[in-house]
Amino acid sequence: MSVIGYLVVMKVLVAEKCGFCHGVRTAISVAEKTLAENKDKAVVYSLGPIIHNRDEVNRLAKAGLRTVDDIKEIDSGTVIIRSHGAAPSQIDELRARGLDIVDATCVLVKRVQHIAAQLGKDGYQVVIVGEENHPEVQAVMGCAQDVVVIADESDLPKLTGKGKLGIVCQTTQEPEHFGNMLGSIGRRSFTELKVINTLCNEAIKRQESAVRLCKKVDVMFVLGGLESANTRRLAELCKKYNNETFYLQNRAGLDTRTLSGKEVAGVTAGASTPDWIIDEFVSDLEAFEA
Ligand code: SF4
Repeated sequence: MSVIGYLVVMKVLVAEKCGFCHGVRTAISVAEKTLAENKDKAVVYSLGPIIHNRDEVNRLAKAGLRTVDDIKEIDSGTVIIRSHGAAPSQIDELRARGLDIVDATCVLVKRVQHIAAQLGKDGYQVVIVGEENHPEVQAVMGCAQDVVVIADESDLPKLTGKGKLGIVCQTTQEPEHFGNMLGSIGRRSFTELKVINTLCNEAIKRQESAVRLCKKVDVMFVLGGLESANTRRLAELCKKYNNETFYLQNRAGLDTRTLSGKEVAGVTAGASTPDWIIDEFVSDLEAFEA
């Protein structure tokens, strides 16, 4: 904290790597381009929120993007497949309904889908280490017949056979957790384990950078959609190393009492948090007068 005359200014450090990853940035620019091309011509839909950030979804909704959860809600127009992807059966249904499809699935998520499909064809039971309700995992589950999702140790009893397992990971999982789950699966007597590393480097870099920063600040803020798995993971990690960690959707969530007595604040943000949310928040912190 520096003192300017009678003003006491909070020092704010922003994580080296935070905010939009290339997959999310691409999905947003695809949405903006599709909206511009279809202006006054056709309705543009997103199958599920384009990214896990309500503020950005609302911004795009004002520009005309309609978010629907069910394909049956779409009669005509163009449908954007979000960065988390969609299951092959959903794509088939969209095609069967004669809708225009714009695929904004992140290339790394596509890679997991292809790997899962190939593992299934090669006779492996596909194991996804991740969260069963996450849209990325749901889409990957649709790529093979025999799929089991393991979130943590409590899910291990789901692995009942003894045969060949092909193991992948939700892209934004923490590497240590993936490693631990592999160890636990390895202790069971399967005849073959084929592991493919599908972790996303962008997510790993954000995690490492957040941990480095949270260790040297008095208070740490993690910004992003409360429904965003990668942001939640950043918050959990920071909390491990800095108990004064707060997970907020945006500037509106800032309780200035959390700044009381603090000199240095750290800020990080999930891969689905837009720059403008980070910039607004940092400005508020920098303007804070203790
Ligand atoms: S976090 Fe990684 S996998 Fe997810 S959208 Fe971004 S680049 Fe793609």
